[in-house]
Amino acid sequence: MSFTIHGAGVSGGIAIGHAQLTSHALLEVTHYTVAKNKIRSEKARFDRAIKTVQKELKNLEKHIPTDVPEAEFEAFINLHRMILEDSTLSETPKELIESMSCNAEWALKLQLDHLVEQFSKIEDSYLRERKADIRQVAERVLKALLGRPGQAPVASIEENTIIVAHDLSPADVVVFKHHKFASFITDLGGATSHTAIVARSLNIPSVVALHQARTLIQENEMLIVDGTAGVVIVNPDETVLSEYRLRQEQWYLEQQKLKRIRRTKTATIDAVEVELQANIELPEDVKAAKENGATGVGLFRTEFLFLNRGDLPSEDEQYEAYRKVVNDMKGCAITIRTFDLGADKQVEGFSRVAPNPALGQRAIRLCLAEPKLFHHQLRAILRASAHGKIRILIPMLSNVHEIDQALHLIAEAKKSLDAEKIKYDKNVEIGGMIEVPAAALSIQTFLQKLDFISIGTNDLIQYTLAIDRADDAVAHLYDPMHPAILGLLSTIIKAANRVGKSVAVCGEIAGDPNLTRILLGMGLKSFSMHPAHLLTVKQKVLTSNVDELRIATQKILRTQNPDRIDQLVDAMNV
Ligand code: PEP
Ligand code: MG
Repeated sequence: MSFTIHGAGVSGGIAIGHAQLTSHALLEVTHYTVAKNKIRSEKARFDRAIKTVQKELKNLEKHIPTDVPEAEFEAFINLHRMILEDSTLSETPKELIESMSCNAEWALKLQLDHLVEQFSKIEDSYLRERKADIRQVAERVLKALLGRPGQAPVASIEENTIIVAHDLSPADVVVFKHHKFASFITDLGGATSHTAIVARSLNIPSVVALHQARTLIQENEMLIVDGTAGVVIVNPDETVLSEYRLRQEQWYLEQQKLKRIRRTKTATIDAVEVELQANIELPEDVKAAKENGATGVGLFRTEFLFLNRGDLPSEDEQYEAYRKVVNDMKGCAITIRTFDLGADKQVEGFSRVAPNPALGQRAIRLCLAEPKLFHHQLRAILRASAHGKIRILIPMLSNVHEIDQALHLIAEAKKSLDAEKIKYDKNVEIGGMIEVPAAALSIQTFLQKLDFISIGTNDLIQYTLAIDRADDAVAHLYDPMHPAILGLLSTIIKAANRVGKSVAVCGEIAGDPNLTRILLGMGLKSFSMHPAHLLTVKQKVLTSNVDELRIATQKILRTQNPDRIDQLVDAMNV
């Protein structure tokens, strides 16, 4: 039976392929039936995996890291051993293999989901936090089952595969960067969740917030994913398939046509020069940035260097990553955002269950709470600044103390390099992200203290409209054209232009061609976005007249009625 599911499109284009169901975080867990006569050996395989992990834990106990207190480490290993040996993890999956005739990985995944759900309901926050330990132990068992103890999971994904997941974390999606597949769709998430943002950088059609896709879609079913319209068609008939093949071809041709303007100077009809830069997550994203004509990196989300690993990147490793980006972008400016960990981007050792993670210890708050970690990153960035133009960008600032503290720690990092006679750019510019309403409303102070600002609209919208950007239940409330948002944006841009300080927008709206003109009309001249959007936005800039847009924008800013705002923005785009 053919049917259609609607969600939020996060990355344009059309994909046609077969569904591969995956489970949260444990990416390669596929489900297959085990023949009755193979059930015993499947259960034995599970037992062997448990034994392997027992040995791993024993080994770990013998090699206590020097920088960790011995007693703490022993307590950690003991806890993980207890979890491993508890019958809920070591026995129940075998019962599931038997009763469901399924593979061991799937049985483990089902039991893990069940345990995590049970723990999520516990009121005591210490016990609730233990679900992270259960997940870690289960992942060890899974890796042992897959014959790759100690390694990060690697998905076996093919080009015509469409990943169907209930939820994926940004860390999960970043793993996909090393694999080729057609598309991914998820039940949860909003269009500006970090998961969706990484999906955009993969440049494959993707849809989130489908609510029931994971339940309704069966393994291997034929799917069409229309990432532009946010639609998934399950089991399409031949007529629908040929219509979408045609649309896919058209999309491809349009993308090819856009490549012609790659080297064209970015200026409006009335000769206003505009800067179009790239947002990147990892050094290898520079390739796409250059292919799409980016004139710099406006946002390097460095926290992705910290994800999908059991340890933290050393100062030298970070320095190499930043230096590589500077070298590969040959003479272009690179804006390195200090890590924005916390909320939906957790890192081992610093993850804690916060009652309200988006409002918790995230970004600069975490950096100030962990000054040693921050110090290493700052030194690494400063060292890389000896090789080309680097700017430092501080995320989620909300008050003057945070700016002062961040500036103080940067000065300390410089001093430590001076003491070791290590070179760096003494005039490195320091900027702040304006993504908390408090920062937007006290923009004058921020402009006095900082060299430049970059508006993070994903968070600015999240915090101003009070909608969790990762929650699909409120995704429909995400509205960049809410009069409050337009008012804030205009105030920030105007204030920065007035004092002659550089202002950019690096949130997802910078890559939305429908909003290019209203931002130009507000006086914005610097946009940073995922490379995949650069040429579409450039096309828009090349055909715009800022003088005319300024007047139309003023009219929109005086309007409160949302429908009327939509009409006026549409009229700008004809
Ligand atoms: C933003 O909030 O708009 C932004 C660019 O930062 P991030 O999406 O990484 O939170
Ligand atoms: Mg942000």
